[in-house]
Amino acid sequence: MTERYLYDLSEGDASMKPLLGGKGAGVAEMLRIGIPVPDAFTVTTTACVAAMNNDGQWPDGLWDDILAALDRLEQRTGRRLGDAERPLLVSVRSGAVQSMPGMMDTILNLGISDTSVVALGAESGNPRFAWDAYRRFIQMYGEVVETVPAHVYEDALAALKSDRGVQQDTDLTEQDLQQLVQTYLTLSREHMGEELPTDPKEQLRRSIDAVFRSWLNPRADVYRRANNISADLGTAVNVMQMVFGNRGDTSATGVCFTRNPATGAKELYGEFLVNAQGEDVVAGIRTPRPLAEMEQVLPAAYRQLLETMTKLEQHYGDMQDIEFTVEDETLYLLQTRNGKRTASASLKVARDLVAEGVIDEREALRRIEPAQLDQLLHPAIDPQHGKTPLTKGLNASPGAAVGTVVFDAVTAERRGKAGDPVVLVRWETTPDDIAGVIAAQGVLTAHGGMTSHAAVVARGMGKPCVAGASAIKIDALAKTLTIGDTVLGEGDSITLDGSTGEVFAGALDLVPPQVNEDFQAIVGWADKIRRMDVRANADNGEDAAKAREFGAQGIGLCRTEHMFMDETRLPAVRKMILADDEAAREAALAEILPMQQADFEAIFDAMSGLPVTIRLLDPPLHEFLPNLVDQALLVQRLELQNGDAAELAEAKALLGRINALTEQNPMLGTRGVRLALMFPEIAVMQVRAIARAALAVKGRGGDPHVEIMVPLVAFAQELQRMRELITETMAQELAAAGGAELPFTVGTMIELPRAAVVADQIAEFADFFSFGTNDLTQTGIGISRDDAEGAFLAAYVDADIVPANPFSSIDVDGVGGLVALGTERGRSVKPDLKVGVCGEHGGDPASINLFEKIGLSYVSCSPYRVPIARFAAAVAVLNQQDQQA
Ligand code: PEP
Ligand code: MG
Repeated sequence: MTERYLYDLSEGDASMKPLLGGKGAGVAEMLRIGIPVPDAFTVTTTACVAAMNNDGQWPDGLWDDILAALDRLEQRTGRRLGDAERPLLVSVRSGAVQSMPGMMDTILNLGISDTSVVALGAESGNPRFAWDAYRRFIQMYGEVVETVPAHVYEDALAALKSDRGVQQDTDLTEQDLQQLVQTYLTLSREHMGEELPTDPKEQLRRSIDAVFRSWLNPRADVYRRANNISADLGTAVNVMQMVFGNRGDTSATGVCFTRNPATGAKELYGEFLVNAQGEDVVAGIRTPRPLAEMEQVLPAAYRQLLETMTKLEQHYGDMQDIEFTVEDETLYLLQTRNGKRTASASLKVARDLVAEGVIDEREALRRIEPAQLDQLLHPAIDPQHGKTPLTKGLNASPGAAVGTVVFDAVTAERRGKAGDPVVLVRWETTPDDIAGVIAAQGVLTAHGGMTSHAAVVARGMGKPCVAGASAIKIDALAKTLTIGDTVLGEGDSITLDGSTGEVFAGALDLVPPQVNEDFQAIVGWADKIRRMDVRANADNGEDAAKAREFGAQGIGLCRTEHMFMDETRLPAVRKMILADDEAAREAALAEILPMQQADFEAIFDAMSGLPVTIRLLDPPLHEFLPNLVDQALLVQRLELQNGDAAELAEAKALLGRINALTEQNPMLGTRGVRLALMFPEIAVMQVRAIARAALAVKGRGGDPHVEIMVPLVAFAQELQRMRELITETMAQELAAAGGAELPFTVGTMIELPRAAVVADQIAEFADFFSFGTNDLTQTGIGISRDDAEGAFLAAYVDADIVPANPFSSIDVDGVGGLVALGTERGRSVKPDLKVGVCGEHGGDPASINLFEKIGLSYVSCSPYRVPIARFAAAVAVLNQQDQQA
């Protein structure tokens, strides 16, 4: 059977989204549950894909299928495209599986022509409206399908208004509009080099083709990359009967959300315009009115709209974003979809829907994007700032942004990518600005409402945005921004508060965000579902306490080197490294031991009752010494000065030691377990400090759970020796403490490919494994963690050679494969082996999903990511269940 590329509206439903796109399936589903929608048919995403894969050539028979579907639509509506008596007008819209702002703009009023315009005017009793529809159609069609520059039509419209001495489009008369149609046709011919086609069927064919082509356009591509949407999905094309919101004062058009998408509150949220088409609301040309005012203007349609909102929410179990039109007091829903919302709204809506009994907790968890939780962990402006805002716009997307002003997306992208914090300031953003929005800290617009492009895009990305700040004057050429008496130029600092809409000159201080009750409740649900434990990476008592507050179930990685880097400790550490003999080294270590012990005590205190994994010293020793070049220059200077001989001798000795310790590839050099085996007295000192700290904490009623971890193990024999050394030292300490009891375990990091491959051998000597996915990414892929991100990696991501930066989100097949292999081999020897991960990936939702699949016991991440990890671990369980179902 040949593939089917066409579906009438009544044949679709919500489950057909991959085929009909979000819009097509959405409208079909609405019809199915009895909601008033205009009639339509949909060209499938598979037709788009087939055309894309064949140099834009449509599949055989597609056009005939479309003509047949059109014929059926004409029969159902009792109208014909371009008819002189009962004309059918249609809209043509792209509709990808996921909503995509970068796609082709909608074509409205297709089917209007020199013949049908008269009929439309007669039917509606409003010829002016018909001519307005006609000129709008030529403008949209010419611009979007035939790529006539937008300004060509805009200029002609502006010239005509100026000629007539009027301000508003609505002040133009029917005759003015007739004239404008002729002007538009002439201008179109000039720019196209041929007549604009007047046959509506030909216009339809070209419009559908333009939708297909727009799937591959650069701005859609930018959006897809930013949102990880595959280019292979294609877009559907929806051809729908037009209903008119601009048929006079009994007609209207609007957009609304079933709840407030900024806060999640269950309240009216939307805008409408009487006597207007849908594009007028989103384009921000006329300022829309708050939805509540519709009750007075169109009471029956308003009541029906409220009922429909409830029905849609109940049906979809989620907050909806709705487009509607009222034609002569009859309500039509044009579109509904799950509304984009801020993270805090997302949590509130989910929690409220569960409380209202619409969905259960598991379903609520599926609805929340783990990455969205990040937004709630966004900084806000320090409330103590005491500054007066320059102006206030709409609080379009929450969070605070500080950066320097830039006026165009290209500069924003360039400077943002170079690491400069910038704030993109625009009159209004368009889909062409997307790359700039992505690279900016925040967005400020002078125009447009809560549903404007800037607001919608920023909310989706979790970027602070202040929209519609009408008091600001932008001079894009001079690159200045004027608010009252204040003039800011490109490069001047600005601060936005997307939560209040306030705009400040200068860079204000930011404070870390608060985690609210909704957040706690939802992460609490996640805790009931997740299987993996979530621990934190923390190196001091304060971070450990913070981590525990965030719900960490222990410490998965305590990096002891951080304790040595401290200024007060470095002298003793250097003394230890520079010691000529063991005795001198022992003396220096004796100085360090009490410091280490104090650190461990603070951590054991904060984590009483929970496991604490302490890793023995990992970095190469040269990291604790001055830089080689600096020291060489110092020696040179002292020699020239001819000063204190002792000072010179000391500097030379240090230089010699630095030289001796310097390695070509320190990351592959004397570090980790190799260091411990070369200088066992360092490890002995650390184990003693651990034992003494644990005994001290125990002595004061605490409950330390000690886990000692050996880094960078490649050979089983390395761990075997370290295990002996640790066990022996512990035994000595406990004996010295009068035969005290202190259970402890010894484990290893798996962060080298060899370790993963021989994990069965290593497991013989390990009580637990912890995957160091930072080093495992470095050594597994063979890319330097210190250099690659600033070098070729960004280009690799851009060119789709790798799907994401593998140091942030795990390389599933490669490094993830090593994690799976190591886990499997380790557990082949010890089936109950506890296996965790403590690299950066432990806090990344996509990586956590993989770790759940592999069956790890826990993930460990930075304290601030602990709540996200708890959540992501639960979602990972649900994903697994979905896959098995
Ligand atoms: C790792 O390599 O993943 C790890 C956690 O250790 P570090 O980042 O300290 O090398
Ligand atoms: Mg490591």
